[in-house]
Amino acid sequence: MLLVLLIGLFTKGLSIAKSYALYYDELILKENANRFSVRSMATLELPQSSKSTIALAGGAFIIALWCTISMENASVWLFVLALAISGFVGDLFTGLAHFGFDYVFPEKMPILGPIAKEFREHHDSPTLDPSDYVVNLTKGAYASLPLSIVTVVLIATSSGSWLSFLCTATFLGMSFWAFFFHQIHSYAHMGACVSPDDFKASVQRISRLPTLEEKRREFEKLFDAAPIPPVIRLLQKSRIILNPEMHNLHHISFESDFSSVNGWSDPLINWILGPLARRLKARSEAADA
Ligand SMILES: [Zn+2]
Ligand SMILES: [Zn+2]
Repeated sequence: MLLVLLIGLFTKGLSIAKSYALYYDELILKENANRFSVRSMATLELPQSSKSTIALAGGAFIIALWCTISMENASVWLFVLALAISGFVGDLFTGLAHFGFDYVFPEKMPILGPIAKEFREHHDSPTLDPSDYVVNLTKGAYASLPLSIVTVVLIATSSGSWLSFLCTATFLGMSFWAFFFHQIHSYAHMGACVSPDDFKASVQRISRLPTLEEKRREFEKLFDAAPIPPVIRLLQKSRIILNPEMHNLHHISFESDFSSVNGWSDPLINWILGPLARRLKARSEAADA
């Protein structure tokens, strides 16, 4: 039920974004009449790096965590279940958002446009690195903060039932995964150790292998050689966080494996959005030709 509600909300969000994109195109046509407002909207962008945003999101998460574990009907088992559900739902959201940034949101759109541009540049130059803590966690904080706020609102309106605790803890879990999603994505690239050119050459070589299993094995060799901390590598290999062997299948064709938390939702997203991604990519390549 929660999943259906969340998918519904996201779909509504996409349609609003598409309407906004059309509205924005109209604004461009009226640029001469309203030059200042168009320019200021086109440059509207969230800061790439903001320690105060990280501190705010971290503080909001701790408050939400404290309030959640103090709820009536709080239970360790329900909390663990909520963490697992939020792992799937959070992963699904990152996958849907990534699809939107790759193929739906126009680059000139305020706030979302610069993010879409960054996602597309990430295809050409996959330089993400986990040592960029502040940049990675700033991006996570933007996604995590609203989810912590929703968690606190849910607690304030809670009926005190076990279901109410499960829903609240699920939002809290999503806030947790959101906070770390970009850091997790960076561990799937190790940009400071694997040069983008070498990486792209490896991806091209691996993409020519005949089976998916061989492709995964070759990616595994590439990342086993990178200096990923052992605990992180263990979490990657046990699929608790995004496994580079899986994520880099996205970098072969940009048509599948969009998620950024753990890849649990990739089979669902590939099934639903894979054909659409192929169509949109072919259309954009034809337009560029
Ligand atoms: Zn992408
Ligand atoms: Zn990537």
